[in-house]
Amino acid sequence: MHIVTCLAHDHNMLLVLLAGLVCIFGSLVTVRLSHRAIHARGSAWLHWLFLASVCAGFSIWATHFIAMLGYRPGVSVNFDPTLTIVSALIAIAGTALGLIFAKLHSSKFATLCGGAMIGLAISAMHYVGMFAYRPDGIVSWRPGYVAGSVVGAIMLSSMALLRLRGKDRDTPGRAWDATLLLVGAILLLHFTGMAAFEVTPIEGFSSGSDSQVFTAMAAAIAVAALIIVGTGISTHLVEEGRMETQQRLRQIAMHDMLTGLSNRHNFVTQLARECAALHGTAQPFALLLIDLDRFKAVNDTRGHPVGDLLLKGVAMRLRKAARSNDLIARFGGDEFAILARDVGDDESVERFAAKIVDVLSAPFELNGYIVEIGASVGVTLAPGDSDDAELLIQHADLALYRAKHEGRGRVCVFSPTLTQTMLERCALEIELRQALASDSFTLLYQPIYDARTRRVTGAEALLRWNSPTLGEVPPDIFIPIAEELGLITAIGESVLERACTAAVTWPEDLSVSVNVSPVQIMGGRFVRSVANALARSGLAAHRLKIEITENSLLCENDIVLHTLQELRALGLGVWLDDFGKGYSSLSYLHRFPIDRIKIDRSFIARLPEDPSSASIVRAICQLGESLGIEVAAEGVENLAQVAFVAGHGCTHMQGFLLSDPLEPCTARQIFWAQNQAPTGASYYGIGINTQSP
Ligand code: C2E
Ligand code: MG
Ligand code: MG
Repeated sequence: MHIVTCLAHDHNMLLVLLAGLVCIFGSLVTVRLSHRAIHARGSAWLHWLFLASVCAGFSIWATHFIAMLGYRPGVSVNFDPTLTIVSALIAIAGTALGLIFAKLHSSKFATLCGGAMIGLAISAMHYVGMFAYRPDGIVSWRPGYVAGSVVGAIMLSSMALLRLRGKDRDTPGRAWDATLLLVGAILLLHFTGMAAFEVTPIEGFSSGSDSQVFTAMAAAIAVAALIIVGTGISTHLVEEGRMETQQRLRQIAMHDMLTGLSNRHNFVTQLARECAALHGTAQPFALLLIDLDRFKAVNDTRGHPVGDLLLKGVAMRLRKAARSNDLIARFGGDEFAILARDVGDDESVERFAAKIVDVLSAPFELNGYIVEIGASVGVTLAPGDSDDAELLIQHADLALYRAKHEGRGRVCVFSPTLTQTMLERCALEIELRQALASDSFTLLYQPIYDARTRRVTGAEALLRWNSPTLGEVPPDIFIPIAEELGLITAIGESVLERACTAAVTWPEDLSVSVNVSPVQIMGGRFVRSVANALARSGLAAHRLKIEITENSLLCENDIVLHTLQELRALGLGVWLDDFGKGYSSLSYLHRFPIDRIKIDRSFIARLPEDPSSASIVRAICQLGESLGIEVAAEGVENLAQVAFVAGHGCTHMQGFLLSDPLEPCTARQIFWAQNQAPTGASYYGIGINTQSP
């Protein structure tokens, strides 16, 4: 009660108001600077501590001093300059101590202690300041008010610091609650302290004081206080701007600009964090690597803007398919990754991966184009497969590689055997490159027979690779790898050269056929390399035959058609190998210039017992006859097969029964021997046993 009377009767309200404003503004800035001091990392906190303490100390002191200048005790007053300055230093030092204590000990109790120190500093500043206040009269104190003021200041300051500590590290918000508590602490202390203070005038004694000078001093102090506090706030604002920029840069550094998903760097960092947490309470998780199928084709044919739209569309579908706590990233190009948390059992992970394949396989509508792609997914589980981020990525990569190899649009879950497969594959790749560099491939020649005359009409060149460490590696294994590594063009050119050089030494009525990969046909320089091989060897073009598979015809029809027409124009024959094994569309036979069909050996192997193989072979023979295309049977292994294919119209035959693939010199000898033998002599069985069946 006495507080209100003291405030109303003994004070100049204008100066009280000014003191209040300085207190509010100063507290607001103090709270923000203190927040930075408590939460700053590294040595920056010392900078913020200095600013916060100076700002706090000066605000407390200025509030007190301005209010004191507004106090009218009814007698003349003087100030002790030394104690006045000391009181300001106490406020600064006390606030600094409180903040240091709270910064160094993060517990709630320590924060309350730090706040109590600040409360004590406010109190000490006030009462030391009061000793500097020299009224011309007898000063007496009301102890209850003194005690109450100190306890109140300590409690409110402690609560203010506690509220401040609870604020988010990066966003303190306005921190109004902490500010109000601090304002409360300063004003409560001051005005309760003033209610404790009483001056009894001494009759006839006055040293004289000038109230106008007091008002001017109050205004000057207020301006000085505002300048100091303003400096604090401007530093704070500059720093805030810097932090915002940093935050934006961090955002850019962590995200893929096109899709807005995480980038690889951020994903790997989070993955490592998740792995480290596995030893604590964290749940198991799954890592999925996703590779889009046919993305390159879309990018090449529809242009990059459509490619970009497609990637954005993929990102959107992945976001929809994943759960909110999953992390999705674009690793670059058309590769994406998902860190799936709380995944449950292995089956549910596989279901999730299959769902990803499904959602990405649905058509996209982009700029009016309907685009269809697919996706392959490699999955690994942590901690089951590994608890190391780098190993997990390697495992998922391996599984993805396998998924793509198994025919795309698939999910493959990592298993330890995949690692072994991969090691073998790496060894194979290295050796294959070395084999090409040292030209250590060889060619064998398997004779092809005329089914009617039973004479050799030519031979198929078959590539052999005897690796120094892996032994004899079948072409079915190494050719697809050479295609993938981009080595097939160089290997194919060497095969062409060798085959032409060998065939030129054979009797002139014999031809040589060479297997050609789709990659070679599409490569753009195939016709030139054929022409070079013919020119260098001197082989007549009509003696060279090219064996292509249906896969070649599937690629880009026009390029293939053009290439085949050019080969035809040179005089070469074009044969369709392994017919029936692939897509076997009859339209190929109309559209492309094909001279001979080679029925795939899997059908011949089931002859003559298997009725469906028998009817397929019969149908192909009839088709060939009606289109005027020769039909060869490959993989003939017994006499029953010979009888069947010859009886149903196959024009040519090839197989182990008739001859193994032969070394070049053996082939040459046999071919010349046939050339000198009388017409009608059969050469069946050459290369296996010399007796004709
Ligand atoms: P292909 O063109 O169908 O070659 C015929 C394959 O059948 C050869 O296997 C041959 O040894 C085998 N063969 C011959 N007679 C019989 C038989 O009676 N029974 C059975 N079961 N098989 C028989 P090879 O030499 O292992 O070649 C496999 C495939 O590798 C070839 O199939 C061809 O697609 C590819 N290839 C071989 N050499 C080359 C080449 O120089 N370039 C390219 N691009 N591919 C090649
Ligand atoms: Mg072939
Ligand atoms: Mg074949």
